[in-house]
Amino acid sequence: MHIASVGVSKFCFLLSLAFCGLLLLLIPALQPQAPQVDLPHPRPQVRPAQSGPLHHNGVPAVTDAASGLNESSVGQGGSMEKEHNRNGTHTPERGMDPKMNQEKGTWTGGKGEGLPDFRSRDPLELKDIFIAVKTTRKYHRSRLELLIQTWVSQAKEQTYIFTDCEDKELRMRTGANIINTNCSAAHTRQALCCKMSVEYDKFIESQKKWFCHVDDDNYVILPSLLRLLSSYHHSQDVYLGRPSLDHPIEAAERIKSDGSVTVKFWFATGGAGFCISRGLALKMSPWASLGNFISTAEKIRLPDDCTIGYIIEALLEVALTHTHLFHSHLENLQKLPTNTALEQVTLSYGGFENRRNVVSIVGGFSLAEDPTRFKTVHCLLYQDTDWCPKLKPHHKN
Ligand code: UDP
Ligand code: MN
Repeated sequence: MHIASVGVSKFCFLLSLAFCGLLLLLIPALQPQAPQVDLPHPRPQVRPAQSGPLHHNGVPAVTDAASGLNESSVGQGGSMEKEHNRNGTHTPERGMDPKMNQEKGTWTGGKGEGLPDFRSRDPLELKDIFIAVKTTRKYHRSRLELLIQTWVSQAKEQTYIFTDCEDKELRMRTGANIINTNCSAAHTRQALCCKMSVEYDKFIESQKKWFCHVDDDNYVILPSLLRLLSSYHHSQDVYLGRPSLDHPIEAAERIKSDGSVTVKFWFATGGAGFCISRGLALKMSPWASLGNFISTAEKIRLPDDCTIGYIIEALLEVALTHTHLFHSHLENLQKLPTNTALEQVTLSYGGFENRRNVVSIVGGFSLAEDPTRFKTVHCLLYQDTDWCPKLKPHHKN
């Protein structure tokens, strides 16, 4: 009897030891870490909204209060085109020469900090990039022809010109991809968003890796564009461009909420051009494809470029990668150091009437012969072009 009870307590003791061991194994803190899974963001569907007021291109106007709801508004105070004065991680463009790393960095702010390394060893080719040029009937002769004669001639297959009328003659004569969007030729938010909507859909259809948008007063320096995009991967979330403001804009949030809260986000100014990776563009689809872009813009009552920023930064929570390689005529282009001009990704021109705002670059054409400086830039990049003046061997620019 006594021996039997010792045996039983021994057995109980061993059993409880085994039980404790099992419990220890089950404590989660002692388990190896399981890999973290990124949950996808919810993607609410967009419904059409009321039409909004007109705007000034690139810079959103404070919108009207006609609907009685809280209205979108531009963040107050802060000058245009201030340089590098925001908090953010400075991420130099890898793969470029050391001087450019210092002077022409890209950086993302806020939510974008700690982004993974986008670099890829896949060699990116020009044919992988979809370049959309926005234009309108009245600029076919005065602006578009210059682009077709210069940089577009080097990227004919992948450049698509989005306009608002038929111009068979220009298409036949130049062989350019000209797309009649059938959007209105007015300079209204609705008309410009209509064009952006068609640009987006054509890009998705194209299967290309990158979507880049420029205006018809931009020169695209193709080797620089290729080099910049090569430092990222098209399957990652990449939104590259230059803000025209030195602060994020603030708008009433009417998609994720009822408009009673505001949302702050950065956007790349359309007048300097911007690029979006295919991976990110696909995620934009619920708010951008098949006319949804127009509804989204109407809902937040902001111009096309701001709406792109809103979808990417506010809805998808992907930060804009700021770069000073893109240029619009909102900045003083004369300030751009001449020796770095050919390393930029986009250039622009403006202000002929009062004050000429062009890149100061010297080459084979005088200011009278080449008021935009685009021909001069083109001949420095592609010296063998038949209409370029032959530079003397000792000529220095
Ligand atoms: N634009 C347009 N429809 C218009 C006026 C302009 O599509 O009625 C295009 C124009 O071709 C250009 C862009 O919008 O690509 C910006 O126009 P612009 O340079 O004249 O304006 P800003 O840059 O001064 O805002
Ligand atoms: Mn312009």
